[in-house]
Amino acid sequence: MKSIDLSRFKAVFFDMDGVLYDSMPNHEYTWTKAFAAHGITINEEDAYINEGRTGRGTICLVYNKLYGRDATDEEVDSIYGLKTKLMKECKTAPQMEGMRRLVDALREKGMKTYVVTGSKQPTLMEKLWSEYGFDKEHIVSGADVVKGKPDPEPYLIALKRSGERAEDCAVVENAPMGVKSAKAAEIYTIAVNTGKLADHYLTDEGCDLLYPSTAKLSDEWIKAL
Ligand code: CA
Repeated sequence: MKSIDLSRFKAVFFDMDGVLYDSMPNHEYTWTKAFAAHGITINEEDAYINEGRTGRGTICLVYNKLYGRDATDEEVDSIYGLKTKLMKECKTAPQMEGMRRLVDALREKGMKTYVVTGSKQPTLMEKLWSEYGFDKEHIVSGADVVKGKPDPEPYLIALKRSGERAEDCAVVENAPMGVKSAKAAEIYTIAVNTGKLADHYLTDEGCDLLYPSTAKLSDEWIKAL
Protein backbone atom coordinates (compact mmCIF):
# COMPACT_ATOMS: atom_id res chain seq x y z
CA MET A 1 0.00 0.00 0.00
CA LYS A 2 1.45 3.36 -0.93
CA SER A 3 1.19 6.25 1.49
CA ILE A 4 -0.39 9.52 0.47
CA ASP A 5 -0.52 13.14 1.62
CA LEU A 6 -3.61 13.00 3.81
CA SER A 7 -4.03 16.79 3.64
CA ARG A 8 -4.64 16.85 -0.12
CA PHE A 9 -8.34 15.91 -0.25
CA LYS A 10 -11.18 18.32 -1.01
CA ALA A 11 -13.98 16.06 0.18
CA VAL A 12 -14.10 13.08 2.54
CA PHE A 13 -16.95 10.53 2.61
CA PHE A 14 -17.49 8.65 5.86
CA ASP A 15 -19.35 5.40 6.28
CA MET A 16 -21.47 5.46 9.46
CA ASP A 17 -21.79 2.07 11.22
CA GLY A 18 -18.42 0.99 12.56
CA VAL A 19 -16.75 4.26 11.45
CA LEU A 20 -18.65 7.14 13.09
CA TYR A 21 -20.60 5.00 15.56
CA ASP A 22 -19.82 1.78 17.39
CA SER A 23 -23.15 0.40 16.20
CA MET A 24 -22.11 -2.93 14.75
CA PRO A 25 -22.76 -4.95 17.95
CA ASN A 26 -26.38 -3.68 17.83
CA HIS A 27 -26.67 -4.63 14.15
CA GLU A 28 -25.25 -8.09 14.76
CA TYR A 29 -27.71 -8.63 17.62
CA THR A 30 -30.82 -7.28 15.83
CA TRP A 31 -30.14 -9.08 12.53
CA THR A 32 -29.66 -12.37 14.37
CA LYS A 33 -32.91 -11.87 16.35
CA ALA A 34 -34.99 -10.65 13.38
CA PHE A 35 -33.95 -13.58 11.18
CA ALA A 36 -34.41 -16.06 14.08
CA ALA A 37 -38.02 -14.85 14.53
CA HIS A 38 -38.56 -15.94 10.90
CA GLY A 39 -36.97 -19.35 11.48
CA ILE A 40 -33.62 -18.43 9.90
CA THR A 41 -30.26 -18.84 11.61
CA ILE A 42 -27.36 -16.56 10.62
CA ASN A 43 -23.95 -16.49 12.23
CA GLU A 44 -22.31 -13.35 13.61
CA GLU A 45 -19.68 -13.27 10.85
CA ASP A 46 -22.51 -12.92 8.27
CA ALA A 47 -23.56 -9.65 9.90
CA TYR A 48 -20.04 -8.26 9.35
CA ILE A 49 -19.43 -9.68 5.88
CA ASN A 50 -22.76 -8.22 4.66
CA GLU A 51 -22.33 -4.94 6.51
CA GLY A 52 -23.01 -1.93 4.32
CA ARG A 53 -25.66 -3.56 2.17
CA THR A 54 -29.19 -2.14 2.38
CA GLY A 55 -31.69 -4.05 4.55
CA ARG A 56 -33.36 -5.48 1.44
CA GLY A 57 -29.97 -6.44 -0.03
CA THR A 58 -28.95 -8.35 3.09
CA ILE A 59 -32.31 -10.13 3.41
CA CYS A 60 -32.40 -11.16 -0.27
CA LEU A 61 -28.84 -12.47 -0.05
CA VAL A 62 -29.79 -14.73 2.86
CA TYR A 63 -32.97 -15.87 1.06
CA ASN A 64 -31.04 -16.67 -2.09
CA LYS A 65 -28.53 -18.72 -0.14
CA LEU A 66 -31.29 -20.64 1.68
CA TYR A 67 -34.17 -20.82 -0.79
CA GLY A 68 -32.66 -19.87 -4.16
CA ARG A 69 -34.89 -16.79 -4.55
CA ASP A 70 -35.25 -13.18 -3.48
CA ALA A 71 -37.38 -12.41 -0.44
CA THR A 72 -40.86 -11.04 -1.23
CA ASP A 73 -41.76 -7.45 -0.29
CA GLU A 74 -43.81 -8.84 2.62
CA GLU A 75 -40.86 -10.88 3.91
CA VAL A 76 -38.50 -7.91 3.60
CA ASP A 77 -40.98 -5.64 5.40
CA SER A 78 -41.55 -8.18 8.15
CA ILE A 79 -37.87 -8.90 8.87
CA TYR A 80 -36.61 -5.34 8.41
CA GLY A 81 -39.59 -3.99 10.41
CA LEU A 82 -38.69 -6.24 13.33
CA LYS A 83 -35.01 -5.32 13.05
CA THR A 84 -35.87 -1.60 13.14
CA LYS A 85 -38.11 -2.14 16.19
CA LEU A 86 -35.35 -4.05 17.99
CA MET A 87 -32.80 -1.34 17.10
CA LYS A 88 -34.98 1.23 18.88
CA GLU A 89 -34.80 -0.91 22.01
CA CYS A 90 -30.99 -1.19 21.90
CA LYS A 91 -28.90 1.18 23.92
CA THR A 92 -27.68 4.01 21.69
CA ALA A 93 -24.38 3.41 19.99
CA PRO A 94 -21.44 5.48 21.23
CA GLN A 95 -19.24 7.51 18.86
CA MET A 96 -16.11 5.81 17.59
CA GLU A 97 -13.02 7.14 19.32
CA GLY A 98 -11.47 10.25 17.78
CA MET A 99 -13.96 10.66 14.94
CA ARG A 100 -15.71 13.85 16.06
CA ARG A 101 -12.30 15.44 16.45
CA LEU A 102 -11.26 14.26 12.98
CA VAL A 103 -14.43 15.48 11.23
CA ASP A 104 -14.03 18.89 12.90
CA ALA A 105 -10.34 19.10 11.93
CA LEU A 106 -11.05 18.25 8.28
CA ARG A 107 -13.80 20.89 8.11
CA GLU A 108 -11.45 23.46 9.64
CA LYS A 109 -9.07 22.79 6.75
CA GLY A 110 -11.91 23.50 4.33
CA MET A 111 -12.63 19.90 3.34
CA LYS A 112 -16.23 18.95 2.61
CA THR A 113 -17.50 16.07 4.73
CA TYR A 114 -20.32 13.61 3.94
CA VAL A 115 -21.83 10.44 5.39
CA VAL A 116 -22.54 7.54 3.01
CA THR A 117 -24.51 4.75 4.69
CA GLY A 118 -26.87 1.93 3.71
CA SER A 119 -28.78 2.57 6.91
CA LYS A 120 -32.14 4.28 7.17
CA GLN A 121 -32.40 4.04 10.97
CA PRO A 122 -34.09 7.35 11.92
CA THR A 123 -32.53 7.58 15.39
CA LEU A 124 -29.00 7.45 13.98
CA MET A 125 -29.87 10.02 11.29
CA GLU A 126 -30.88 12.49 14.01
CA LYS A 127 -27.69 11.79 15.93
CA LEU A 128 -25.59 12.50 12.82
CA TRP A 129 -26.92 16.05 12.94
CA SER A 130 -26.87 16.66 16.68
CA GLU A 131 -23.52 14.96 17.39
CA TYR A 132 -21.53 15.35 14.15
CA GLY A 133 -23.23 18.31 12.42
CA PHE A 134 -24.18 16.46 9.21
CA ASP A 135 -27.39 17.89 7.71
CA LYS A 136 -29.59 16.00 5.20
CA GLU A 137 -27.72 17.41 2.20
CA HIS A 138 -24.52 15.83 3.55
CA ILE A 139 -25.98 12.36 4.20
CA VAL A 140 -26.43 9.75 1.46
CA SER A 141 -28.58 7.09 3.14
CA GLY A 142 -30.31 3.83 2.23
CA ALA A 143 -33.29 5.99 1.21
CA ASP A 144 -31.28 7.67 -1.59
CA VAL A 145 -30.12 4.56 -3.43
CA VAL A 146 -31.56 1.80 -5.56
CA LYS A 147 -28.66 -0.66 -5.49
CA GLY A 148 -26.60 0.33 -2.46
CA LYS A 149 -23.14 -0.99 -1.51
CA PRO A 150 -21.24 -2.94 -2.88
CA ASP A 151 -22.42 -1.16 -6.05
CA PRO A 152 -20.57 2.17 -6.56
CA GLU A 153 -23.94 4.01 -6.63
CA PRO A 154 -23.91 5.52 -3.10
CA TYR A 155 -20.37 6.90 -3.48
CA LEU A 156 -21.13 8.20 -6.98
CA ILE A 157 -24.10 10.10 -5.51
CA ALA A 158 -21.83 11.57 -2.80
CA LEU A 159 -19.27 12.52 -5.44
CA LYS A 160 -21.90 14.32 -7.49
CA ARG A 161 -23.21 16.20 -4.44
CA SER A 162 -19.70 17.29 -3.49
CA GLY A 163 -18.99 18.66 -6.97
CA GLU A 164 -15.39 17.35 -6.66
CA ARG A 165 -13.43 14.96 -8.88
CA ALA A 166 -12.97 11.38 -7.65
CA GLU A 167 -9.18 11.85 -7.45
CA ASP A 168 -9.64 14.72 -4.96
CA CYS A 169 -11.78 12.67 -2.57
CA ALA A 170 -11.30 9.99 0.08
CA VAL A 171 -13.57 7.39 1.65
CA VAL A 172 -13.36 5.97 5.18
CA GLU A 173 -14.89 2.48 5.43
CA ASN A 174 -14.80 -0.44 7.87
CA ALA A 175 -16.57 -3.14 5.83
CA PRO A 176 -15.54 -5.24 2.81
CA MET A 177 -18.73 -4.32 0.88
CA GLY A 178 -18.09 -0.64 1.58
CA VAL A 179 -14.48 -0.81 0.35
CA LYS A 180 -15.67 -2.59 -2.78
CA SER A 181 -18.29 0.12 -3.42
CA ALA A 182 -15.82 2.99 -2.91
CA LYS A 183 -13.12 1.41 -5.09
CA ALA A 184 -15.68 0.75 -7.84
CA ALA A 185 -16.37 4.52 -7.73
CA GLU A 186 -12.58 4.99 -8.15
CA ILE A 187 -12.12 6.90 -4.89
CA TYR A 188 -9.08 6.63 -2.58
CA THR A 189 -10.24 4.32 0.21
CA ILE A 190 -9.02 4.25 3.79
CA ALA A 191 -10.15 1.17 5.71
CA VAL A 192 -10.37 0.90 9.49
CA ASN A 193 -10.75 -2.62 10.83
CA THR A 194 -13.14 -2.00 13.73
CA GLY A 195 -15.10 -5.24 13.34
CA LYS A 196 -14.55 -8.94 13.84
CA LEU A 197 -13.19 -9.91 10.42
CA ALA A 198 -9.54 -10.56 9.53
CA ASP A 199 -7.67 -7.73 7.72
CA HIS A 200 -7.58 -9.63 4.42
CA TYR A 201 -11.34 -9.13 3.94
CA LEU A 202 -10.57 -5.41 3.55
CA THR A 203 -7.27 -5.64 1.64
CA ASP A 204 -8.78 -8.21 -0.76
CA GLU A 205 -11.29 -5.55 -1.83
CA GLY A 206 -8.41 -3.19 -2.63
CA CYS A 207 -8.36 -0.59 0.16
CA ASP A 208 -5.50 1.93 -0.26
CA LEU A 209 -4.67 2.28 3.44
CA LEU A 210 -5.60 0.21 6.49
CA TYR A 211 -5.75 1.32 10.12
CA PRO A 212 -6.41 -0.92 13.13
CA SER A 213 -8.66 1.63 14.88
CA THR A 214 -10.43 4.96 14.41
CA ALA A 215 -8.32 6.44 17.23
CA LYS A 216 -5.13 5.73 15.28
CA LEU A 217 -6.62 7.00 12.01
CA SER A 218 -7.79 10.20 13.67
CA ASP A 219 -4.43 10.87 15.37
CA GLU A 220 -2.38 10.33 12.20
CA TRP A 221 -4.69 12.27 9.89
CA ILE A 222 -4.93 15.27 12.21
CA LYS A 223 -1.13 15.26 12.53
CA ALA A 224 -0.81 15.34 8.73
CA LEU A 225 -3.15 18.31 8.25
CA1 CA B 1 -19.82 0.27 8.11
